Amino acid sequence: QRRGLTKLKRQPALSRDGQAVTLLANIELPEDAPAVVDIGADGIGLYRTEFLYMNRPDTPDEEEHLAAYLHVIKTLDGRPVTIRTADLGADKQVDGGRRGPVATNPALGLRGVRLWLKDQEMCRPQLRAILRASHHGPVKVMIPMLSTLHEVMQVRRLIEETRAELREQHIPFDEQLALGGMIEVPAAAVCAAHFARHLDFLSIGTNDLIQYTLAIDRIDDEVNYLYDPLHPAVLALIANTLRAGRAAGIPVTMCGEMAGDSRYTRLLLGLGLEQFSMHPNSVLEVKRAIRDTDIGEVAAAVNAMLEIDMADELAERLQALTA
Ligand code: PEP
Ligand code: MG
Repeated sequence: QRRGLTKLKRQPALSRDGQAVTLLANIELPEDAPAVVDIGADGIGLYRTEFLYMNRPDTPDEEEHLAAYLHVIKTLDGRPVTIRTADLGADKQVDGGRRGPVATNPALGLRGVRLWLKDQEMCRPQLRAILRASHHGPVKVMIPMLSTLHEVMQVRRLIEETRAELREQHIPFDEQLALGGMIEVPAAAVCAAHFARHLDFLSIGTNDLIQYTLAIDRIDDEVNYLYDPLHPAVLALIANTLRAGRAAGIPVTMCGEMAGDSRYTRLLLGLGLEQFSMHPNSVLEVKRAIRDTDIGEVAAAVNAMLEIDMADELAERLQALTA
């Protein structure tokens, strides 16, 4: 099975009806980057930068950020690298309460972009390093946990300030650096059209989107049985986000676990997803599913699935679609 897949490394991710799909990888450490190239992925769709903050009492400085990013950019050798700003808090706590008391409800607390914007020591060096890194390769920056457009405006302002600072210091950066946002809070998915008008790309984070839509803690085993990517509400939010991206003419990626699960590949292709980002180990499996799919043919069946209200009937239809 695995050996059959290896042959796919150098094959294009083309559907049966000839549509090109972009296959990106998620990484958590600079050391993960060689696997991305080895598996033949088109680039990095999610570079989680939380590792820089882990297992230490202090905050990483600009040079540390930059060294990590340059390492990855070099390894990727011209392929795009999407750097996500630190998404700390909730299940990614780093410092035993150094940043204040642990909230009763950390997933709904100060996490992701909320914490990042509040902590100048966290956002300024990281943003400077990302901008500086953009001079050395095709870099994009991505914001996690957006829930209001106001956060996008704040980030834009911060980017403007940082750019001005770098210009003044004659430090080069990419003037076109793309700014994307993660759609992983239901409010952002419902209002995806608004976010699409103010961002250069969107990326659907299904891990959190499912958690927040279905009100189930993603790391609580007691409610694990309710965690369902096929819940009609989840599908509706994904479909809405894809529609918003199309209407605004910007790309939409999916970088949650759902993107790397080949059971859902046909469904996602049918909904119009053209960019998938996943653990490098899943790339070939998903590529095989793409090459086995006639997107034009499944699109009608998939869109009819959006009207179904029972999750188990949906699962059955999906089974039929994938068979
Ligand atoms: C997600 O929420 O789907 C996601 C990709 O981000 P993380 O798993 O790092 O929260
Ligand atoms: Mg997330």
